[in-house]
Amino acid sequence: MIHLVCERCGTVYEADPRRWRCDCGGPLSLDAVPPFVPAMVDRRAEGLWRYEKALPVDAADRVSLGEGRTPLIPILFDGRTLLVKQEQLFSTGSYKDRGAAVLMTYLHARGVRHVVEDSSGNAGTAIAAYAAQAGIVCDIYVPADTSSAKTFQIEAYGATLHRIPGSREAAAAAAREAAGTAVYASHVYNPWFLQGTKTFAYETAEQLGWRAPDTLVLPVGNGTLLLGAFIGFHELVQAGVVAHMPRIIAVQAAACDPLAAAFEAGAQELQCLSAGHTIAEGIAIAAPVRGSEILTAVRATQGRFVTVSEQEIAGSLRECCRRGWLIEPTSAAVIAGARRYAAGMNPGEVVVTVFT
Ligand SMILES: *Cc1c(COP(=O)(O)O)cnc(C)c1O
Ligand SMILES: [Zn+2]
Repeated sequence: MIHLVCERCGTVYEADPRRWRCDCGGPLSLDAVPPFVPAMVDRRAEGLWRYEKALPVDAADRVSLGEGRTPLIPILFDGRTLLVKQEQLFSTGSYKDRGAAVLMTYLHARGVRHVVEDSSGNAGTAIAAYAAQAGIVCDIYVPADTSSAKTFQIEAYGATLHRIPGSREAAAAAAREAAGTAVYASHVYNPWFLQGTKTFAYETAEQLGWRAPDTLVLPVGNGTLLLGAFIGFHELVQAGVVAHMPRIIAVQAAACDPLAAAFEAGAQELQCLSAGHTIAEGIAIAAPVRGSEILTAVRATQGRFVTVSEQEIAGSLRECCRRGWLIEPTSAAVIAGARRYAAGMNPGEVVVTVFT
């Protein structure tokens, strides 16, 4: 029986789709998930469902658009080879499908009929798509200035779009208010979402011959990929499948870098909540809910933060698109961070990064 445990105060709750945070306000995690055993990998199953036995949902109930098993390909940047996982190849256009598939499978199996979510883009499109696949009614709250590509996609899936004036936080508050009558399918709060993104680690390790890379360069706004990758690699280390954790290098835009600032200051909580404007809108998160978990994860792997300028992001965006990889500015920010990190990498170091 899986329980929800508060990351802040340790209170334990029964798993209930309506319980989206602790009474103290803290985010919740799952207390027990099936252990990872490589022999359990179902080689005939499609996509991330080959790891079904390590997921806290039943694949027989799955809400799926064919997600997972993205290629890991070597790409030369500035004369150095980086392994880049092609997470732009998901049905909705980002790795958020990993989290949405597992979360919506869980909610659908629990009989949920109506979900709400807030997002500056890709999490909203993923939840809307999987809700459509499951026949679940869906309302998505976005900041009023969200790009028309994202809002078009959300509405195309049949979700009801709510444009909320003001900040990203205003959209989140509107969604939480609506969650009084519907289930809050939050990619930030709901721990089942991270159970989906953890399959990024399983796939990467399997593609490297059941090895961990030396280094993982990942984006961080709310940390949905970073925390999933940390959980997944941690499970693989515990199971004895890989020998060590990869060092996690977390990339933020210099214009909005509350976590990098807290890391540099040696702090465990975020102090400064100022957010400047960045074209990397997907990681422009001034007050990440799981900030303290993210800082702990990066420190536990002997990792660090890298911040990138708007010029570096624009330069990497242009270079990737001109070489045939159509990615968005947020994804280019990760590549800019990976290139900056790689300038000082060791010969032979295996560095994995991602087109998100
Ligand atoms: C969600 C997302 C990220 C990472 O965001 P987090 O807030 O850390 O979860 C990075 N790139 C893209 C394109 C995204 O959609
Ligand atoms: Zn609590």
